[in-house]
Amino acid sequence: MARVALLLGGNEGDMKRTLQTAQRLINERVGAVMRCSHRYQSEAWGFNATLPFTNQALEISTDLRPLEVLDAIQQIENELGRNRAAEQIEKAATGARYASRPIDIDIIFYGSEIIDEERLRIPHPLLAERQFALQPLAEIMRSFPHPVTGKSVGEMLDALRTEEVTTEP
Ligand code: ADP
Ligand code: MG
Repeated sequence: MARVALLLGGNEGDMKRTLQTAQRLINERVGAVMRCSHRYQSEAWGFNATLPFTNQALEISTDLRPLEVLDAIQQIENELGRNRAAEQIEKAATGARYASRPIDIDIIFYGSEIIDEERLRIPHPLLAERQFALQPLAEIMRSFPHPVTGKSVGEMLDALRTEEVTTEP
């Protein structure tokens, strides 16, 4: 059994409903949901989007291997209306790295394993820079140590907040 942290997010459609359905499907197919954070809203990160994002963190307990978890969550994204082809077209048109989407599910931690493959990087490489990920995660696993840096989720979040304050004009 591995303890896995997932971050769910999106900015299109009825996010409350989508996140509820995603959570149910994850619980049925990926692993029992042990904890879930509240839903947090924030402005789009890394690109301009009119609609704000909603994010939620889940901790699950799973028997699946990391790539099996990835296959299962990508299948769930597709079923919930994620259209990667349309996103590629939007990204090409805007030149941005990201596009609006009804649902994105990322694996943040898989126990304390470190995976660095093209299809799968765990812990998620941009975690320490993303308040929208750290905030909901801190609610459910504040003291969990990052397997590479040793910093806890709460410490990473505090570091980002301090940076925000000190960079203000
Ligand atoms: P993003 O999440 O960066 O907005 P996508 O959801 O389209 O974009 O993911 C792009 C690719 O990232 C996926 O095809 C997947 O193989 C890869 N990937 C690498 N590491 C992870 C991870 N930890 N969780 C989810 N996807 C990952
Ligand atoms: Mg993703």
